[in-house]
Amino acid sequence: MKVSRRTLLKLTGFGFAATIMLPRMAFAARNSLKSLRTGVQPGNKTRLVIEMAARPSYTLSYPANQLVINIANTAANTSLTPKLASGTLVKSISQAQVGDRLQITANLNKPIAQIPKSQIMMLEPNGDNDYRLVLDFTAGNAAATTAGTATAAKSAAPAKSAAPAKKYIVVIDAGHGGKDPGCIGKGGTREKDVVLSVAKKLRAKLDANGFKTYLTRSDDTYLKLSDRAAIAERRKADLFLSLHANANPSRAMKGFSIYTLSEKASDEEARKLAESENASDKIGLDDWTGFEKDIRFALSSLQQHAVAEMSEEYANGCARTFRGAKIEQQPGPGVRHAPFAVLRSTVPGALLELGHLSNATEEKLLRTGAHQDKLVDAIVRSVKNYNFEV
Ligand SMILES: [Zn+2]
Repeated sequence: MKVSRRTLLKLTGFGFAATIMLPRMAFAARNSLKSLRTGVQPGNKTRLVIEMAARPSYTLSYPANQLVINIANTAANTSLTPKLASGTLVKSISQAQVGDRLQITANLNKPIAQIPKSQIMMLEPNGDNDYRLVLDFTAGNAAATTAGTATAAKSAAPAKSAAPAKKYIVVIDAGHGGKDPGCIGKGGTREKDVVLSVAKKLRAKLDANGFKTYLTRSDDTYLKLSDRAAIAERRKADLFLSLHANANPSRAMKGFSIYTLSEKASDEEARKLAESENASDKIGLDDWTGFEKDIRFALSSLQQHAVAEMSEEYANGCARTFRGAKIEQQPGPGVRHAPFAVLRSTVPGALLELGHLSNATEEKLLRTGAHQDKLVDAIVRSVKNYNFEV
């Protein structure tokens, strides 16, 4: 699942020995510990959350009945009391300063195996929370833990050297199509044609830049919104981009805007836009309920949260890149949020309204190859800048 792939942090597997061999530097802590807490997750999992002021660089090791987390360039925070929930594997947690590292030791009721990367998440700051390293684990597989750090180092090493260069998968969705033209400019330009043209150019350019791309449609065919999201799922996409062009009752309105999924619209305009984009799809509500149920089932709420954060990160970067390329932004925030049906999946992504077909100047611009190329270049840059690996 892409969440885990992207959220895993470098498990260097070097453990103690390598750290000690590093040259000693004067210690100036660059990170600080904000909170330590545990909780119980479905499947009898113990969750350990380490909240930090900055993104931690860490290693894990597994001495007998312990989980040890070494965090670089961090001072211990002895005034902090860990919040330990009952019913977890964690009996107690202690901190120690080891040179410039903060060493957190979780004393466990039972031994655990090396935590798989899929059970390790790094969450960006959000609301009241700072950076959170989230570790989920269950009891068992004591064999792997008895050798402690040595085992962790040994088992992590082959995975590291064997990993081939990964091609990130981008699914490009040209909005509308077939019986659904999308919005239509005064000059007769149809949204479905503009976005298909941009999608094809984008595909070629992303491929040339080492990405693996798929189009949800490569011709003038109608696709349901749920099918588009399902393609992203099936292709195991790392990123999903839905391309659209906008229309506004005010013909003076111009500029691009970028949207991510949220249950609540960020503003009235975003709400209306989501309504009209969703309405282009004539599927019943039941279809969606079914689709979403599967996804909800597959994703823990934390992972849903991670998908939302990754989408947000991409969208912000994309808006920045567009502005950098001197592409006119619609007045207001560059990134907005609304319940777009097409974005409902486990794949991080965004809906890009490339400009306004309802504006005469922009309609003309959107038809030209030169402007389409400019948009494509900006999107390619935004994808290249996006941090697929945390
Ligand atoms: Zn559209």
